[in-house]
Amino acid sequence: MRRNRNKGLERILGRLEDLDEKNLTILVNRLVRDRHLLESVFDVIRDGILVLDGESVIQYSNAAATRLLGLRRREIGNSNIWRRIPELAHALQIDPDQLRPAQRSASCEIEIHYPETRVVQVYFVPMEEATEHELGDGTVVVFSDLTEIKHSTKELIENERIASIMMLAAGVAHELGNPLNSLTIHLQLIRRQLEKLGTSEKTARTEKSLNICTREVDRLDGIITHFLAAVRPQTPDLRKVDPIAILNEVLEVEENLFSERNVNVTIDLEAMPPPIFADPDQLKQVFFNVLKNAVEAMPGGGSIRIRWRKDARHFTLMFADTGEGIDPEDLTKVFQPYFTTKTTGNGLGMMVVQRIMRDHHGTIAIDSRPDKGTVVTLQFPVIDPERPLLEDS
Ligand code: ADP
Ligand code: MG
Repeated sequence: MRRNRNKGLERILGRLEDLDEKNLTILVNRLVRDRHLLESVFDVIRDGILVLDGESVIQYSNAAATRLLGLRRREIGNSNIWRRIPELAHALQIDPDQLRPAQRSASCEIEIHYPETRVVQVYFVPMEEATEHELGDGTVVVFSDLTEIKHSTKELIENERIASIMMLAAGVAHELGNPLNSLTIHLQLIRRQLEKLGTSEKTARTEKSLNICTREVDRLDGIITHFLAAVRPQTPDLRKVDPIAILNEVLEVEENLFSERNVNVTIDLEAMPPPIFADPDQLKQVFFNVLKNAVEAMPGGGSIRIRWRKDARHFTLMFADTGEGIDPEDLTKVFQPYFTTKTTGNGLGMMVVQRIMRDHHGTIAIDSRPDKGTVVTLQFPVIDPERPLLEDS
């Protein structure tokens, strides 16, 4: 096919001298039209396509590649691909200063950071019949944007991991619930028998031990109950609520904790907060977990500043503490189940926060500087996420 077409082209070019002005114009117009047609076709392709010449200079870029790479018009014909996308040179271990053709077929997955961060699969295809072509030993480069696919896969894995913890938790509760009940009943029986023995030095000592046992069993029961409340997947009962009123309820309950730990909490209140659609109990859980982490990050005391802002679509709450901050390499692990840097931590708090935020169609972001502090940002939609098209009355 291609050879025939090239032969046809050669025949036409050979006859160029014979053509009169009119036929030459028709021919040129046809070539221009063909080129436009091809370019339009390339521009509707979702993958980015670049054509490089023998010195790896970008000679053509379709619309998707231009967008993805933030290419400017003047870069076409001038820009060397390795210098333009250093991440690519790095992935293929190519020295960007060496002007040489890509030549080989290659494929790699890279993360590019300009104009925005995207995960991209890149294929290099050396051009066939290169010697006949004006681009010499050129190369076609195809860019497929994998960012969305990556994200959804990551979410899927995360959901599966959470689901397996839920199952584990349910199993643990089932296993621990029965012996705990039995312990409680027998402790009560012992107490009754002890009462029958009357008071003496011996019974007083036994009663003391019994009290400790009862307290510890109660504590175990509490831990399990809270643990289950935190990890059991619950569909939120979304209602129109005032987020700041709910936050204030949590702050009141935790007042003693703050004063004991020398933590000063302030809320910037400039205007009326908009109502959001949330499950009040789950929202309390989110606020509690975030505040608890902030307090625990400030063993010597400090402050928590809470601010909020709203726009047409979102209500955003920011909790800024002056604590020890999070190491950059730990930042990605904070939401992982069981990740903790504390001796008494369980590493489930932030996972629960993330799950609840997701169920509320909201997001959570963490920004932290070691030794300076951490800002946790919660963003909620202000319109009913289950009836997004209805304006609330
Ligand atoms: P836990 O509090 O039981 O450790 P979390 O899931 O609540 O578990 O938090 C996980 C980890 O994230 C913590 O151990 C801590 O290292 C880090 N972290 C979370 N919030 C903060 C914060 N405000 N300041 C510093 N570190 C934090
Ligand atoms: Mg915690």
